[in-house]
Amino acid sequence: MHHPLEADQASQIVLWHSAVMQATRTAGALEQGISQALLQRLDVPGPRYTSYPTADRFVEAFGAEQYALALRERAQGARVGGAPPLSLYLHIPFCESVCYYCACNKVVTRHHERAAEYLDALETEVDLHVAELGAGKSVSQLHLGGGTPTFLSDAELQRLMEMLGRAFRIAAGAEVSIEVDPRTASPERLRHLAALGFNRISFGIQDFDPAVQQAVHRVQSVDCVRELIVAARELGFRSINADLIYGLPRQTPESFQRTIAQTAELRPDRIALYAYAHLPQRFKPQRRIDAAELPAPQARVQMLGAAIAGFLGHGYTYIGMDHFALPDDALAQAKRQGRLHRNFQGYSTQPDCDLIGLGVSAIGRMGATYSQNAKTLPEYYDALQHGRFPVVRGIALTRDDLVRRSVIMALMCQGRVDFESIALAHLISVPEYFAAELEALKPLVEDGLVEVDADGIQVTASGWYFVRGVAMVFDRYARSQQARERFSRIV
Ligand code: SF4
Repeated sequence: MHHPLEADQASQIVLWHSAVMQATRTAGALEQGISQALLQRLDVPGPRYTSYPTADRFVEAFGAEQYALALRERAQGARVGGAPPLSLYLHIPFCESVCYYCACNKVVTRHHERAAEYLDALETEVDLHVAELGAGKSVSQLHLGGGTPTFLSDAELQRLMEMLGRAFRIAAGAEVSIEVDPRTASPERLRHLAALGFNRISFGIQDFDPAVQQAVHRVQSVDCVRELIVAARELGFRSINADLIYGLPRQTPESFQRTIAQTAELRPDRIALYAYAHLPQRFKPQRRIDAAELPAPQARVQMLGAAIAGFLGHGYTYIGMDHFALPDDALAQAKRQGRLHRNFQGYSTQPDCDLIGLGVSAIGRMGATYSQNAKTLPEYYDALQHGRFPVVRGIALTRDDLVRRSVIMALMCQGRVDFESIALAHLISVPEYFAAELEALKPLVEDGLVEVDADGIQVTASGWYFVRGVAMVFDRYARSQQARERFSRIV
């Protein structure tokens, strides 16, 4: 993925919280001002909840065997008609050149012949799944992420899609999406992608300012991106997404204001706005960024405020967390109708699926488990050569995890927890089970971010900008002392 952050990157969440709270004031999104004291109390680290438990809770005791078992359970469930639809995520790790802000799992190479070996391995991994699940299982969602999926040639992408088409049945109306690096694409390439069945597309823009682009080693002109977005629209791609990042070197509130205006003018259906976290100790490419060129915290806050105000002003809807969408986009409609879901790609309109993660470092969700593949190519290849799933860690959710996942996802997606539906689904009394958490919510109630009554918990309009802080109250792991220590070490 082009995300500059990982799911549990606590450090930038600190920034995000304070920045969003201040920025929403700037944007006029909050009716009342928020005190510095409140900001400080809210300003605690927390994950993005693309899963619960979050990926940093996965353990090595969950490996290939446990994953195979979860697949078998799904296959048995499917035989009695109970399996939910399947979703596929494929990770293509290769990039031709490195973006200095990158925190993704990728392999930088100009040797395109390496893709063939990787496609062979993916095919083996798919075959292992078919052996457990049976051939021709229906897939309602397929996403190619990276790295750079368009590192693959047209012929290689065709080979990949044909291979998937033989192993699975891509359902009519399935969302078939791909992340596109504008530097590796052309209208002709997009036409080929459309012909292969892709109907959603995401472009990594990040920033349009030439000085910023040079500082992060990712140079792509507005004209090039415009040409691609126009072509994508003409080809019938829906939900065209643009990724932006604020907090990059040489960015100023003025320069980012131009990027915001240029992006809004291109009218992508969705915009994802990520915060850059400078963690050169953890992410090697970031060592090539000159820390002296990074915007000061106050400038970051201004940029975020300007982005929120700018996109709302240009008619976009704030979906939640880091996402905006045009009002007629499926995501904005789902938000209005309380049908948002959350998966590893962020907000989604698709109901919760079993997700098969294919490729190096890919994460999957199968039944009540999460799993992650090996993070390096040698390890990934080795497992497959020995006929094993390349899963190296994961987690089998406990009953408590499942209850908390329901609550956290209800908060993140609907901004509301209905006690009765949680009670019915999990056979618990919410006020009793979560007595400590409801107590811990009281300061947020006092600050007008949530309302609690006998029926449930409601996140208020201003609280929606801080929804992950509300969700964190129900995260058993984040609340533990151990987690606090770990987070503070990262920070
Ligand atoms: S294109 Fe490659 S190097 Fe650049 S951000 Fe994405 S994964 Fe990282």
